[in-house]
Amino acid sequence: MPQKKCSFCGRGEKEVKLLITGLNGYICEECAQQAYNIVMQTGALAQDQSGDGEAFKLKKVPKPKEIKQYLDEYIIGQDEAKRYLAVAVYNHYKRLQQPKDDDGVEIEKSNIIMVGSTGTGKTLLARTIAKLLDVPFTIVDATVFTEAGYVGEDVESILSRLLQVANYDVPAAERGIVFIDEIDKIARKSDNPSITRDVSGEGVQQGLLKLLEGTMVNVPPKGGRKHPDQDYIHVDTRNILFICGGAFDGIERKIAQRMNTHTVGYNSVQNVAKIDKNDLMKYVLPQDLKSFGLIPEIIGRLPVLTYLNPLDREALRKILVEPKNSIVKQYIKLFKMDGIDLTFTEAALDYIVDKGVEYKLGARGLRSIVEAVMMDAMFDVPSRRIKSFEVTEEYVRQQLDKAHIQKSNTVS
Ligand code: ADP
Repeated sequence: MPQKKCSFCGRGEKEVKLLITGLNGYICEECAQQAYNIVMQTGALAQDQSGDGEAFKLKKVPKPKEIKQYLDEYIIGQDEAKRYLAVAVYNHYKRLQQPKDDDGVEIEKSNIIMVGSTGTGKTLLARTIAKLLDVPFTIVDATVFTEAGYVGEDVESILSRLLQVANYDVPAAERGIVFIDEIDKIARKSDNPSITRDVSGEGVQQGLLKLLEGTMVNVPPKGGRKHPDQDYIHVDTRNILFICGGAFDGIERKIAQRMNTHTVGYNSVQNVAKIDKNDLMKYVLPQDLKSFGLIPEIIGRLPVLTYLNPLDREALRKILVEPKNSIVKQYIKLFKMDGIDLTFTEAALDYIVDKGVEYKLGARGLRSIVEAVMMDAMFDVPSRRIKSFEVTEEYVRQQLDKAHIQKSNTVS
């Protein structure tokens, strides 16, 4: 009797681990795996399972208060943004589950835009929410996009990334969350629509608009640029939640103008006294985004507008130690894995925060400061026989001075 062979790769029964018998042939475990991958990549399987318009069921959608509490564990302050996000995300998932009544009421999508300077926690908020909801989540940077046909990425590449993180499970990707960072960088440079083509600004906004509105997009399976021979994966963006974030540097001036106040100078308007001029961001309205250069259609598709506060000294101090995943906790864990008890004195933490304030990089600066402080210790301590290591203010000063000297040496 002839030896059984895989009908795909031709390897004999003895050369493979498993041979599955079909009607007229066999398939080995490797070919089966490969076939599965091909099916997933084309999205064919996933699309069949999606059903037509069937309401999607998340196991359990947390209530806005629960979402907020969860965010509180990881993110310091930013209460306003947390509440807005919690409600928007909750409504988004309710919308996905809305019954198909004929009452004519259709809950519309609630994409979000967050305005706040760099390092105040915009990305962290979006990332933390995605973790809670356990849906595919991706971060894209709006600065890489150009209009189709120009050097740079097409806006559709957002969806290739989402598909990748969803393991090409199209229905999962279709209810995922996309965080578009630096949305302010695709603003029109001037308030007037330009006559010449604006490759990096308005064109990209138009491309993005389609995705935000909800459309069927043909995505090339492996990302990258379109190729006529490739089979496209069809992704419906109707139910994808878009969260946009941007620093919108200088928007305070637009807000001030609108409120008929001036950040500098004297004004006669009565209610000026009530306005907190040091924190104009909290008065941000959609029309300020328009003055900044976002097209009205885009603004219309981002109905939830919220802001993040600049992080003050007190917030930075908390960020260093309090969140579940705080920087200090991470280092303590690193050292613990070597059996070393790492501690920071209060004064050392204060000094790190002082430097953070000085560098003006928000919480982003804190990590690089702590990294510079801990570098030598991380190098030496694992090979020393010690049980504990204390970081004092003196040690922080010394390490930072050293790090600066080394850096300035390399620059010069
Ligand atoms: P943004 O997107 O606003 O520029 P990120 O969310 O990327 O800022 O923040 C950078 C880092 O700073 C985060 O990884 C986080 O460690 C820390 N961070 C920023 N803001 C906060 C905050 N409010 N609470 C806790 N950590 C924060």
